[in-house]
Amino acid sequence: MTASQVIFCQATESFPGQGFGDGFLKILETAVAELGCGKSSEAQNPWALKIPLNAPGQSNAVLPQWINAARTGLKKGGQNPGPMFDTLSITTAGLDTAEGLLERASQLDLQEFFVVGDDPENQPGDPLSLSEECAFPSVTLSSVAAAAGGLMLLNSVRPHPHLGMSGALFSLGSGILDRQSKLLLHRDIRPTVDTPLCAGCGSCLATCIFDAITIRAGRAFIDHQLCTGCGECMTACHLAGISPEDASRIPRFQKQVAEAAFAVASQSRAAQSGSLLYANFLTPVPRQAAGGFGRDRQQPDVKGVLVAADPLALDQATWDILVKGNVHGLRQWSGFLQEPGALMERADALGLGSRQYDLQLRA
Ligand code: SF4
Ligand code: SF4
Repeated sequence: MTASQVIFCQATESFPGQGFGDGFLKILETAVAELGCGKSSEAQNPWALKIPLNAPGQSNAVLPQWINAARTGLKKGGQNPGPMFDTLSITTAGLDTAEGLLERASQLDLQEFFVVGDDPENQPGDPLSLSEECAFPSVTLSSVAAAAGGLMLLNSVRPHPHLGMSGALFSLGSGILDRQSKLLLHRDIRPTVDTPLCAGCGSCLATCIFDAITIRAGRAFIDHQLCTGCGECMTACHLAGISPEDASRIPRFQKQVAEAAFAVASQSRAAQSGSLLYANFLTPVPRQAAGGFGRDRQQPDVKGVLVAADPLALDQATWDILVKGNVHGLRQWSGFLQEPGALMERADALGLGSRQYDLQLRA
């Protein structure tokens, strides 16, 4: 397998919410133009940009000016950028309604081009087939992602309780799917409470919109009939008192995300025209996004954005930077025990991309 090109636009200035300078935006714009150039866009079906809005109250990892730089870059690369979208979350982060997403977009002054990717009012895309190894036969793209002539996925790299890191593969294999497909993917990943570690503080209970958690005799209890496996309570527990019920299911979950990502990257409308691009933003992780071990969390020294047309190479490069930049161990970055090993191995085996990459530094 030949190495895929990954462009790393490293930020040399202090980091926003406070803002990158014009120099960085220019570098990002050029990288997107370079990688977007020559893609066979469909003029009638513009590119859609998936953007992570994040929850109200959290720092917005991907700022409007970065999104604008990506849009300008696409234009300079001869592409036709259309709507920006985010999708409904199965988590408890407060963006689980179309109204919540629209309000957040408005707060960020993004409403002009923003649409809800899987608005329940819209029809989702056609089913995309998965291999026979999967527990279910197909997944469905959100309506906006399904209709797009090209797709650019902008990801803020965050700790993820089941993957270690959420990046391009997770966005492709879960983030841009419709809500039902996301729930299907997560259904076997249910956490459980380690009662000796639980102090009964109730933080997890407050994050669970599915009412799956109760406090009994001073300890949290998860009702697995109600739990969707979103993992949000694991992030909320500062005592690391919640972990996967069955750790052996984690690799299966990761493989299914890889399968779904491969289906999107090979069967979607954007894939048919070869018009897919990805950007992973390495930013400081807000305290709210830290896992249970996050109290002494170390931020990586390196910050910026990595851009590629290969989601596997992009995530591998991102992961390698995180590993290299955390002398205290990744657990102090993510707060979770998991690493995205099975995700990347399965993506590699499916031919979704290359784990070899040629990292080009622009700073
Ligand atoms: S957040 Fe952790 S310590 Fe608090 S009730 Fe939930 S499991 Fe227990
Ligand atoms: S109990 Fe289940 S549904 Fe509720 S936050 Fe935790 S993982 Fe999500």
